[in-house]
Amino acid sequence: MHSYGVFRMICLGDDSETCQYVSLGKFLDRSGQFEHVEVVRCLRCGHGVSMPPLPDVTFLYQNRESQDFQPDAKGLSHAIKDIAFRSQARKLLRQIGGAEGRILDFGCGSGQFTRVLGEMVSGASEVVGADMHSEPPAELAERPYLGPKELSSCKESFDIVIALHVLEHDDDADGLLTTISGYARSRGKVVIEVPNIDCVWGMAFGKFWDAWYLPYHRHHFTRNSLVRLMQRNGLKIESVHGVTVPTMGRSFADIAGGTNNLFWLLLGILAHPVQVLGEVLTGNSTAIRVIAVKE
Ligand SMILES: [Zn+2]
Repeated sequence: MHSYGVFRMICLGDDSETCQYVSLGKFLDRSGQFEHVEVVRCLRCGHGVSMPPLPDVTFLYQNRESQDFQPDAKGLSHAIKDIAFRSQARKLLRQIGGAEGRILDFGCGSGQFTRVLGEMVSGASEVVGADMHSEPPAELAERPYLGPKELSSCKESFDIVIALHVLEHDDDADGLLTTISGYARSRGKVVIEVPNIDCVWGMAFGKFWDAWYLPYHRHHFTRNSLVRLMQRNGLKIESVHGVTVPTMGRSFADIAGGTNNLFWLLLGILAHPVQVLGEVLTGNSTAIRVIAVKE
């Protein structure tokens, strides 16, 4: 049993305790920059964190080459992802009760989802992408995009702020959530989506489950630990949803030790119905999406 001093955060299960971690052992290093990466999980709240601590993660994203920027999405892969993103965007719009006004896609990555979402909202609404690079990604060359400098002067100016698969990328998830919700106006909506540590496929694939994605993923949320963190940040929970993110292809690629390509993408599509079925039957989806209102 280790204390992991740097992560002595207030437990997300019980406010009167600090997290008590046990190691889940050594994991795959997807960056090729570490000797040893591991995940520790709290016995009390079930929340997981990645080791070693990385107070500043910007070096991991210097060039847009990590999976977060979909470097493999060209030609047919790109077209397939467009279709998948359109279906996901439709579902998201339904869950938030339609999109009115200005929408910020914080941590937009490749911008492919941002563009698709932007194409689907009505003319009076606008979807703006934002990320840590000052130049927009190619997908958003013709669309609204804010670099870190421009974004910093946009506090409380968005009707809806979405951050999909962003919160788990920083050691200080609490501080990052404060920053994210800071861009929403009062009574505006905040949508957070992160991978689910309890996903049934995480149990099946073990360390090869693509959603572990070390060292890029710093936090591994449970449904409750995400809800608790958002409530502590003054967000009123409106709804919680399970989301199936296609990760079978990349998990197979990890097991085979190969890089992700069209072959694995197609295999993932074939396996997708099985993935959905397993998640529906167990109630433990790939990702958790929480929609909240800023108090
Ligand atoms: Zn805990």
